[in-house]
Amino acid sequence: MADRDGFIWQDGKLVPWREATTHVLTHSLHYGLSVFEGVRAYNTAKGTAIFRLPEHTQRLINSAKIYMMDIPFSKEELMEAQLEVVRVNKLESCYLRPIAFYGSEKMGISTRGARVHVAIAAWPWGAYLGEEGLEKGIRVKTSSFARQHVNVTMARAKLASTYANSILANLEVTQDGYDEALLLDTQGFVAEGAGENLFVIKDGVVYEPEIASALTGITRDSVINIVRELGLRFESRRMTRDDIYIADEAFFTGTAAEVTPIRELDNRTIGAGKRGPITEKIQARFFDIVNGRAPEYERWLSFI
Ligand code: PMP
Repeated sequence: MADRDGFIWQDGKLVPWREATTHVLTHSLHYGLSVFEGVRAYNTAKGTAIFRLPEHTQRLINSAKIYMMDIPFSKEELMEAQLEVVRVNKLESCYLRPIAFYGSEKMGISTRGARVHVAIAAWPWGAYLGEEGLEKGIRVKTSSFARQHVNVTMARAKLASTYANSILANLEVTQDGYDEALLLDTQGFVAEGAGENLFVIKDGVVYEPEIASALTGITRDSVINIVRELGLRFESRRMTRDDIYIADEAFFTGTAAEVTPIRELDNRTIGAGKRGPITEKIQARFFDIVNGRAPEYERWLSFI
């Protein structure tokens, strides 16, 4: 990732890609406190647009607030910087990664005296769980690692440390040949994927598991809007892994994963073992919206 042409926005300036580096004594590298976002820009008929830029930027600010981290840029400055990064790198569609972290000013657990740095990079990134996954669905396995308890690293923060938990789960199941991990909470109820929220469909009703220990995904929010617009019933409720075994359809949502059908969980075929008809409708509507083919959702697009 480091050896590329282009520019990365770092602390208010555009820096050549290869020079956007940090010291090995960076506080966040040692203690794991950095907050970040994953954002996508799509190539629409009216030009490139970032999807739900204010919402992603607000979540970054919220993540920082939870950790009492003072980001030295306003929401408007952070939004403009993201638009600028897409523009200067001449990207038509891409993934953006804004990150706020503590620098190398000091060591020791306390963050007092450490400076907050902000960087924003963007690069082309295709379907996170594969093009085939988007069409045919993926194979998921429940991980033996639990999603972190709600009182551990704070589920509302998109925090680097939380991803150590995701990495444990993802490594465990992908080494056994599955595509992605499902994590249960510390009480054994369904939480979310390693980097995705989950939805299931049963008898025409769309359900999501209670999001207490899951990230409040922005794709999830977009999908809930779509579900309501399609006139489908939507419910959020506590869910067990076997609720998913006997569901008609299931899918993951995420900025990277977009809307990815799940065709199998723990070696049980879900529904017909392929992308289900309601999932397909929701997915098609999602791609219409992000690609600018749904004028009523243009408010979710920030054109560069
Ligand atoms: N849960 C986790 C753990 C994630 O990493 C992500 C991806 N950011 C999501 C859910 C989905 O969130 P969003 O739709 O905002 O990308």
